[in-house]
Amino acid sequence: MSLMHHTLDNVWTIRGELELTSPLHIGAGERGMIGLDAGVLKWPDGRPVIPGSSLKGVLRSFLETVAQNDALHTLISPNRPKACIVTDEPCGRRWRNKEQRDQWRKNRSEELYRTRDLAELAEEQKARIEQELAEEIYRSLCPVCRLFGNQLFAGKLSIPDLVPEGGDPTDWYDVRDGVGIDRDTRTAKSSIKYDFELVNPGVVFPLTIRAVNLEKDEQGWLLLAVEALRRGADPGGKRPGAWGRPGTGHWRISRVLSSDPKAVLSHYLGRDQEEDYELIVDQTMQSFMPTGR
Ligand SMILES: [Zn+2]
Repeated sequence: MSLMHHTLDNVWTIRGELELTSPLHIGAGERGMIGLDAGVLKWPDGRPVIPGSSLKGVLRSFLETVAQNDALHTLISPNRPKACIVTDEPCGRRWRNKEQRDQWRKNRSEELYRTRDLAELAEEQKARIEQELAEEIYRSLCPVCRLFGNQLFAGKLSIPDLVPEGGDPTDWYDVRDGVGIDRDTRTAKSSIKYDFELVNPGVVFPLTIRAVNLEKDEQGWLLLAVEALRRGADPGGKRPGAWGRPGTGHWRISRVLSSDPKAVLSHYLGRDQEEDYELIVDQTMQSFMPTGR
């Protein structure tokens, strides 16, 4: 059975907080100082916002790099497609072609129902073929694309925008002078001097990461990436320690299995049973270690 979206098997929620250790550049569309493509935006009440999508991008690019390691891939995702770098050689490539998908449907229809004409099929027969095709596509995806999604699959992670709770607004920002750079000559242009805002180090952003239907290998990859982020260890692959460090708050994780009705009920009532995050990271990583050594 593959863990796609149509049935809910498990829901993981990781909660913690990140404290900025270096100034964070405000402004959409520019490359921020920590490698977040979208920079930081502002909430209507003035609070700085780190878009969840930006953080997802940071985690993804970390994993795209780390999962290139053959030994690590074999340890965590044995018998699975190797992590693709989406812009280079995307996984599941053949399925991006509609003719390939149609061809597969016809072949399968012939095997199951002895006709290549899909129009002759009953609704539930068509549904079965669509279901099987979706699973075929899913199996062709690398762990990074299964977690974060691609053109063929929506992905399993969601990260709501990060906004600091409470605090004194005057402590959040610092304004500095900037000088515009002339695009053509690459020299400073004093005429386009401007002010720019930074979010101060020390500002704490609560973070929530939700994931549905994680398979065992995806659990490993996810925790590897989140742990890098949490420890401020070079999540973007460029500047060690540049991002942040865990805030003073305790990191927690809840893992709800759909086969556990009590846990499901508690989840929908917002009363998840929470476990210690670091303990679960240790246990999960341990489960990948070769035994007998
Ligand atoms: Zn992929």
